[in-house]
Amino acid sequence: MQAPIDALTSGQVALLGVPLDENSSLFRGPALAPKRIREALHSGSMNWCAESGLDLEGHAGWRDVGDLSLGHGSAAIDAIDAAVTSILARGARALALGGDHSVTYPIVRAYGRKYERLSLLHFDAHPDLYDDFEGNPFSHASPFARIMEGGSATRLVQVGIRTLNGHQKAQAERFGVEVVQMAEWVSGRRFRFDGPVYVTFDIDALDPACAPGVSHHEPGGLTMRDALGVLQSLEGEIVGADIVEYNPLRDVVDMTAAVAAKLTKELLAGMLR
Ligand code: MN
Ligand code: MN
Repeated sequence: MQAPIDALTSGQVALLGVPLDENSSLFRGPALAPKRIREALHSGSMNWCAESGLDLEGHAGWRDVGDLSLGHGSAAIDAIDAAVTSILARGARALALGGDHSVTYPIVRAYGRKYERLSLLHFDAHPDLYDDFEGNPFSHASPFARIMEGGSATRLVQVGIRTLNGHQKAQAERFGVEVVQMAEWVSGRRFRFDGPVYVTFDIDALDPACAPGVSHHEPGGLTMRDALGVLQSLEGEIVGADIVEYNPLRDVVDMTAAVAAKLTKELLAGMLR
């Protein structure tokens, strides 16, 4: 059941569908993700308990506010910012279901106006730090360049990275990004944040063996258990999150829909703990 944003109460988490994939450089498809993630959540294939035991079925702490209706270009970016701003104005928090990774820029821009010191925990195969990618400032290859330029976040920690090139390495140094590359990954790694933290989860951080439904297959990624371990042990207050880059058109027997649905439950539980 869906509720409007203006029915949210303080402290609630709003599940917000953001069906935008026009800033994806290779394939379209992630705009279909919010609907498919909801279908997986409601399919009866899994129950509504997070691994902590928290039962999210009918839980008063969250509401599904449905999908945004979006135009194109900067109008779409501004509409996402406006919707998240209205969620935050009610004292609620957003868990966004993307969409390609371009949606994180306007979401975090809205968060940055509310939180003076905001940390980002960013799961991704890619640093997404391109200053310019094919002339599109909103490209899904650039959201963290836009966010750090704009000063919306004070700390950016990237996990799962395995495509760092010279330009992106220079960008990471320019913005003081803490990049944890897969080549140096150690199972059981834990992260601690002082103050509010926003979690942005690009599904391609995971190994394509467990999450094939993404636009850019990058072998050698995190296991789902690695990712769950990081989320479940995270020290810090999760004030918002997104799950992006799930591409149903590239999926295999809905494997990645199940992954995204489970991440939705675990992030909800993390935000409600
Ligand atoms: Mn990304
Ligand atoms: Mn990626």
